[in-house]
Amino acid sequence: MTIHELTEFPGTDAAPSKRVVILGAGYAGLRCAQTLDKYLGEPDATEIVLIDRYSYHQIITELPVAAGGRLGSGDVAVPLADLLKKSKVRFEQAEIQTIDLRGKRVITTRGDVAFGVLVIAVGSVTAFYGVPGLVEHALTLKSVEDAEVINARVRQSMEAAVHESDPAARAAMLSFLIGGAGLTGVELAGELAEFLPTLAGELDLPPTAARVTLIEAAPSVLPSMPPRLQAKGAGILTELGIRLVLGSKVIEADSEGVRLASGDRLVGRTLVWSGGIMAPPILAQSGIPTVRNGQIPVDRFLRVSGFPDVYVVGDSARIQDESGHGIVEPTAQVAVKQAEAAAYNIVAGWEGWKPRPYSPSDKGQAISLGSSSGVGSIFHVSLAGRKVIALKRLIEEGYRYSVTGRVRLTRKQDPVESAK
Ligand SMILES: Cc1cc2nc3c(=O)[nH]c(=O)nc-3n(C[C@H](O)[C@H](O)[C@H](O)COP(=O)(O)OP(=O)(O)OC[C@H]3O[C@@H](n4cnc5c(N)ncnc54)[C@H](O)[C@@H]3O)c2cc1C
Repeated sequence: MTIHELTEFPGTDAAPSKRVVILGAGYAGLRCAQTLDKYLGEPDATEIVLIDRYSYHQIITELPVAAGGRLGSGDVAVPLADLLKKSKVRFEQAEIQTIDLRGKRVITTRGDVAFGVLVIAVGSVTAFYGVPGLVEHALTLKSVEDAEVINARVRQSMEAAVHESDPAARAAMLSFLIGGAGLTGVELAGELAEFLPTLAGELDLPPTAARVTLIEAAPSVLPSMPPRLQAKGAGILTELGIRLVLGSKVIEADSEGVRLASGDRLVGRTLVWSGGIMAPPILAQSGIPTVRNGQIPVDRFLRVSGFPDVYVVGDSARIQDESGHGIVEPTAQVAVKQAEAAAYNIVAGWEGWKPRPYSPSDKGQAISLGSSSGVGSIFHVSLAGRKVIALKRLIEEGYRYSVTGRVRLTRKQDPVESAK
């Protein structure tokens, strides 16, 4: 992966009132930067600074496909230098360490940067809920690097199993555990369930030699989906050969597997934890008011209470849904819409326009379960089967086009491509 050449970092001198600093170049941060860039004509005094630890934008919704080997890292990591080359957005690669809201500056590994307006879009991290052994022994799937690690671990484990003579050790090597059957867990399970027989074939193992086990504390997979889709999803996963262990809480993990609240033990040397997310700890550590999962509550305009120049968008933001009783579930679709609303409101503040409240809307979701089936909904109409894959491709290519101006992707075993 090419590392973007670092340029001189914006200093700590008095911030120009129109310097917008955007933290995180994920779905929300990148969209906010690109939308602001579109609003602002040339020449303009505004400076847009986008900061991320990576030099590339990650298409996170496609990480399970990369972990299963149907996409390469280069397909899911798009260099920010390419995306931003025709814009006036200044990208800086750095690790954000502390956010000083009152002092209006951000402290990073490359120095401090002062801001006039701040957009916090640092996403989320995996939540381990203090379960002993999870941090040490579980892999996660939140970045391109994670997807590479999972793919490599699965290969290594299968290869090692070929040379293992002890049946118990061999069984542990061929058992792949996934904790958490939400969106990430089920999509990864589907990809691995298709990847394992292919790998087994390459290694002269029987196609069913290795198995994926999906563990979930709730009584069903995809706990946030309607019951009909949960049942459909469970059926598709079972057909793929995945063992479902539902209503079972993981209470301990070690190098050989996990222990459940029931007392049962599941053996498997590879464990991926996708049991929940929380906002990055740097937010609470910076003294910003956060709720229990680390998210920052924001108003309808996506601003932090008491800081009219500070916006939070994407997974890091906590905002009530329209009913006022629940909260908006963090998704890529939500992150992008919030980013567009925040960008508008920033410009509205300068231009004296009326700010627009962010209005959550659920257009639906497409969840792939392997390469040829899935479950989802569009405008509240439930869908299952092959058409979900076509819908997911449409959504993902639409997103890719919106940030890069290009579409691409030919995947291995891609039913949309092969049907042509
Ligand atoms: C495997 C997986 C599959 C998913 N599939 C779907 C799906 O199909 N549909 C859907 O709608 N949603 C999906 N989601 C959820 C979706 O990806 C998130 O809701 C979305 O990425 C949130 O966007 P964001 O901009 O808030 O965060 P992100 O896209 O995660 O961006 C945050 C950025 O901040 C940067 N960052 C964080 N901390 C620091 C720091 N300290 N210093 C520097 N940089 C930092 C990160 O590098 C990252 O680039 C999926 C999530 C996962 C993990």
